[in-house]
Amino acid sequence: MSKTIGIVTSGGDAPGMNAAIRAVTRVAHSNGLQVIGFERGWDGLLTNSYRKLTPRSVGGIIQLGGTILHTLRCPAFEEPGGVETGAETLHANNVDGLVVIGGDGSFRGALELSKQSGVPMMGIPATIDNDVFGTDETIGFDTAVNTAVGAIDKIRDTAISHERIFIVEVMGRKRGFLALEVGICVGAEVILIPEKPLDTCDVIKIMEENSKKGKRAGIIVAAEGIGDTSKLAWEMQRQTESEIRLSILGYAQRGGSPTARSRLLASLFAEKAVELLCEGRGNLAIGLQNGVIKSTELEKAAKTTKPLDLRLLKVAEMLAI
Ligand code: ADP
Repeated sequence: MSKTIGIVTSGGDAPGMNAAIRAVTRVAHSNGLQVIGFERGWDGLLTNSYRKLTPRSVGGIIQLGGTILHTLRCPAFEEPGGVETGAETLHANNVDGLVVIGGDGSFRGALELSKQSGVPMMGIPATIDNDVFGTDETIGFDTAVNTAVGAIDKIRDTAISHERIFIVEVMGRKRGFLALEVGICVGAEVILIPEKPLDTCDVIKIMEENSKKGKRAGIIVAAEGIGDTSKLAWEMQRQTESEIRLSILGYAQRGGSPTARSRLLASLFAEKAVELLCEGRGNLAIGLQNGVIKSTELEKAAKTTKPLDLRLLKVAEMLAI
C-alpha cells in the first residue's frame, strides 16, 4: 500500500497557499505517495474532515489567493484533548507525514501533534507578516507588499494634490516586517513599527521639518501593532496646521492573486518539504536562507523570534529627505 501524506493550511490565510497545496500534491504523487487535504485548519483533524487531493484536483489553483482547504484559528486544538484527537485522526487515516502550511502558531500546533502522534511534520511558512524564524521570506509576503504599495501609490496622488498627510495603517499586529518594506517602497516620510515606536511629538517634528522644506504632503506608514492610529491622526490634527487623513488598508492586503514571487517560493518550499519527508526526515521547517532553500528544526522555527533589520529604518529615513 502506498504511503499517505496529509496537508493542512492553518492560521491566517496568505496568497500562495494554494500554489503550495498544488506543488505538495504533485511532487508527492510523482514520488508514489497519496495525498489528503484536511479542511479548515486544525479543525479538520478534530472532525476528521478531509478530501483526497490528486494532481488533477489541484489544477487551476496556482493563481488563486486564499486556500481551497479553508483555514481558521482553532482554539479547541490547544485545549485538553485537542491534539490527542488530532493524533487519532492521523492514525485512523494512516497518515505517514503531515505538511503544515501556516505561520509560527501553526508550527507550534504541529510540534505538539508530532509529540502526541509520532507522525513527522514539515512546516511551510506562509503568512503575509513574514515573521517566521528560519526563512528570509514567507509565502504571501511579497504579494501583500505589492498590494499595499499599489494602494498607497494611489493614496499619494491625493496626498500630493491636496497637500495632506496620510497615515496609512498596514497589517502587522506584532511585527513590522510588512510596514518596513512597504514604507521603503512607497517612499514613506515616516515608518512606525512595534519594534521601534516613535512618540507623536517626534512624528509631528519630522512632518513639520518636511513642511519647512516645502514638502507639505506626506505618507506615514504605520503597522497596526503600534496602537491606535486614529488617536495618532486626531493628535496630529489637533497639534498641527496640516490636514491629516487616516486610511486603514485592512483585509485587502491578505487576499488576491499571488505574485510570481509568492508562487515560486510556494512551489520550491513544497518540493523541498516532500523531498525531505521522502528521505524519512521530519519536524523541520522549510525556508529561504540567503537565496537557498534550506530547513530549520521545526521547534526552533516555532519558538524563536525572527530578528528585524532595524538598519532599514535608517535607510528609509535617508531616502525620505
Ligand atoms: P499562524 O499559524 O498564522 O501563526 P495562529 O497563531 O493563529 O496562526 O496559530 C494557528 C493555530 O495553531 C491556532 O489557532 C491553534 O489552533 C494552533 N496552535 C498554536 N499553538 C498551539 C499549541 N501550543 N498547541 C496546539 N495548537 C496550537
